Amino acid sequence: MKNEKVLIVGGGTAGLTAALELANSDIRIDVVDRSDFLGGHAVRLSCKAVSGCVKCGACIVEEKLDQARRHPRIRLMPGTQIRSISRNRRFNAELRHKPVFIDPVKCNACGVCMDTCPVEGGVFRGSSKHHVPFYAISEKACIYLKDRSCRKCEKACPQKAICLDLAETMEPVEADAVILAYGFSPFCPENKPYGYGIFKNVITSLELETMVRGKGRVTLPLDGREPGSIAFIQCVGSRDAKLHHLWCSKYCCGFALRMADLIKARQPLSEITLFYIDIQTFGNDFGSFYDRIREKIRMIRIIPGDIYPSQGDQLKVTYFDNAIAETVQEEFDLVVLS
Ligand SMILES: Cc1cc2nc3c(=O)[nH]c(=O)nc-3n(C[C@H](O)[C@H](O)[C@H](O)COP(=O)(O)OP(=O)(O)OC[C@H]3O[C@@H](n4cnc5c(N)ncnc54)[C@H](O)[C@@H]3O)c2cc1C
Ligand code: SF4
Ligand code: SF4
Repeated sequence: MKNEKVLIVGGGTAGLTAALELANSDIRIDVVDRSDFLGGHAVRLSCKAVSGCVKCGACIVEEKLDQARRHPRIRLMPGTQIRSISRNRRFNAELRHKPVFIDPVKCNACGVCMDTCPVEGGVFRGSSKHHVPFYAISEKACIYLKDRSCRKCEKACPQKAICLDLAETMEPVEADAVILAYGFSPFCPENKPYGYGIFKNVITSLELETMVRGKGRVTLPLDGREPGSIAFIQCVGSRDAKLHHLWCSKYCCGFALRMADLIKARQPLSEITLFYIDIQTFGNDFGSFYDRIREKIRMIRIIPGDIYPSQGDQLKVTYFDNAIAETVQEEFDLVVLS
């Protein structure tokens, strides 16, 4: 296979793992990812270690990213998509590279550009120390790229690292094989009866992961306070015949229980309730972990109905209480759709 080349579409955990395996067998690798930052969804997950590693796997992608960046046979291309592809013995692809507006060598990740930008999302940042440069400029949100006004970030950058007058570039590449590792799109729970998109304090599990990774703690999106009570609702988007999603992700139970353990360790005053159908998590040490976590949180084996706002800023969660055979409403500060 020497001198052979593989093109991998997607630089998440799967794409990076494939890249490293093949590169270690002397194959040259091109990894393209449409995102400005490599690592896919996993690079937004938080480590859930409490007193020791809980084998959540959240750090695996960091390790892969580090190894791939340093591997002599791997070329990583964030901000790149395949424009066209054909096959005539080998694959011939045309790559479209988004301009790299921020010079990775000059940028010292001070964040002045993000603080200066007048539009939401004009400048956004990565989430890993292996994201270099750590900031990127959005082709969709930046005003200058739409109407040639602004340039505030360019003027403010103390390192003179920003150049907005760059154009996309095209590059033809050849490959002997193409691996598609473009991952998944998270389920959007807007059509579920939980007020996602209406109540700020109803968030998804991925949003909670990103929050804990960034801040190390859980706060309420509405006002930044720490929540006194948190409800996790499991199986949102899974095991649902109406959505034609009959499958179980096998991640959400493990995520919610490990995250609950982490929150209890860091914010012991928070009361956590988990609404679930049944617990679908496997692994060698899971039994003892499950016994331990059940003593710290309340587990209710029912999936709630609607969520309503309460008089204050709390959320009223409606569910059928099997113990009293009645539908009840209970108030929570934060609801996590898991
Ligand atoms: C709430 C939650 C918690 C989780 N917790 C854990 C955990 O604790 N531990 C764990 O191990 N796993 C966890 N997971 C699962 C983990 O996120 C996935 O297993 C992992 O991200 C899958 O990696 P992937 O490379 O297949 O896909 P993705 O992470 O989706 O990566 C795909 C990549 O392909 C790129 N891409 C997509 N389309 C294109 C295109 N057309 N052209 C170029 N690039 C493209 C994307 O930009 C992305 O970078 C969790 C998942 C969720 C939702
Ligand atoms: S202001 Fe300049 S040096 Fe600072 S993060 Fe932005 S691009 Fe980098
Ligand atoms: S040019 Fe203006 S809108 Fe565009 S990223 Fe810079 S500060 Fe934001």
